[in-house]
Amino acid sequence: MFETLSDRLTSVFSSLRSKGRLSDADIDATCREIRIALLEADVALPVVKDFVARIKERARGAEVSQALNPAQQVVKIVNDELIEVLGGETRRLRFAKNPPTVIMLAGLQGSGKTTLAGKLARWLRDQGHAPLLVACDLQRPNAVQQLAVMAERAGVAVYAPEPGNGVGDPVAVARQSVDHARRQQHDVVIVDTAGRLGIDQELMKQAADIRDAVTPDEVLFVLDAMIGQDAVSTAGAFMEGVGFDGVVLTKLDGDARGGAALSVRHVTGRPIMFASTGEKLEDFDAFHPDRMAGRILDMGDILTLIEQAQKTFDEQEAAKMAGKLVSGDGFTLDDFLEQMMMVRRMGPIKNLLGMMPGMGQMREQLNQVDDRDLDRVAAIIRSMTPGERQDPKIINGSRRARIAKGSGVTVTEVNNLVVRFFEAQKMMKRMTQGMGIPGMPGGRK
Ligand code: GDP
Repeated sequence: MFETLSDRLTSVFSSLRSKGRLSDADIDATCREIRIALLEADVALPVVKDFVARIKERARGAEVSQALNPAQQVVKIVNDELIEVLGGETRRLRFAKNPPTVIMLAGLQGSGKTTLAGKLARWLRDQGHAPLLVACDLQRPNAVQQLAVMAERAGVAVYAPEPGNGVGDPVAVARQSVDHARRQQHDVVIVDTAGRLGIDQELMKQAADIRDAVTPDEVLFVLDAMIGQDAVSTAGAFMEGVGFDGVVLTKLDGDARGGAALSVRHVTGRPIMFASTGEKLEDFDAFHPDRMAGRILDMGDILTLIEQAQKTFDEQEAAKMAGKLVSGDGFTLDDFLEQMMMVRRMGPIKNLLGMMPGMGQMREQLNQVDDRDLDRVAAIIRSMTPGERQDPKIINGSRRARIAKGSGVTVTEVNNLVVRFFEAQKMMKRMTQGMGIPGMPGGRK
């Protein structure tokens, strides 16, 4: 999902890593790159323009932060703006005060409406609701049958026209279904309407008539994310012809670009409420703009880490530490201790490490990290003389024995620490070339 955009943005950010400070020219160049990335992702032009303008304005106005390096600052701004363009807060389904809640689905044929009806019904059922699926697509010969199959798979009831009871009139079926739901104690009614291959007036009128007959609590527009730029015009036509409260994006699993997802909210003013990511019933969930932005930026939870770092570190403290980290060579056991204590204040070490991208595979090792180990390490370092902390290479056998005695640990533990410190120093050298968190082992330049 969104691979192209992720790749482009990641390379934009990595070109900023070596910068100590961003000039206006750097910001302009970065914004140009972001603009190209978005256009290539098929994001609608007005959305791109707006997005880039906001990034530029915020990047220029950004305070020089000691806690974040320029690349991190830009990541943060882009992340914030992505969340915004994807709709900001998660928009949850509104349920009627007097059940049943009526949800009407509209969209083009093939957009994944019927599949979505089944997924939504299952999702609601799992949350303790008793949904009723209503077949109002009476145009396509197989549509009613297909919905019945979906209902069965989802384990929910279906309402379809019975012979002689308004057959062929989807508006009547919709109206009757609400009465039926009330009688049968269904608290949610999901009305599947007819789609066409293209926009046409008759289709719009039928959907509007159904809407007027059942006054839905939510009209959801089902949009195939794979249609790219066409998404904007289709959404516009449905907005005008039927109107809708929220968007459901389908086939996100096949959408490498993300244009529809990033445009639809801006263009229609309506939030994306659900996302469908496959053909199976469980490939479906509520849409969370913040999580989606995180996935687009492909930063693991590094953003959470950036925020925690910002909150935790005193800016000056971070600046001081950052100065020392210019190269791994300047990094001493004193710094090691200081950093460890900073990290300690950010919360359990396991959680922190778990948020770093790429740490997922290290779950096993992470589970063995014990915060008390950190305290033992701190005790060992505190038993060293300033000279030893500056230059651990001088720690010979008798010094080791003294340190062990002073901190109440074995000589082997002292040994292990010194070895680990040298490894950390090496790793630091490697990681300061990448992006990290100021003040953490492996922090920024
Ligand atoms: P409708 O005409 O709008 O009712 O669309 P359907 O529900 O019949 O879906 C059209 C096709 O898209 C079917 O083959 C579905 O299996 C497929 N489909 C629906 N949703 C998704 C999805 O999220 N991902 C993928 N890959 N396929 C989907």
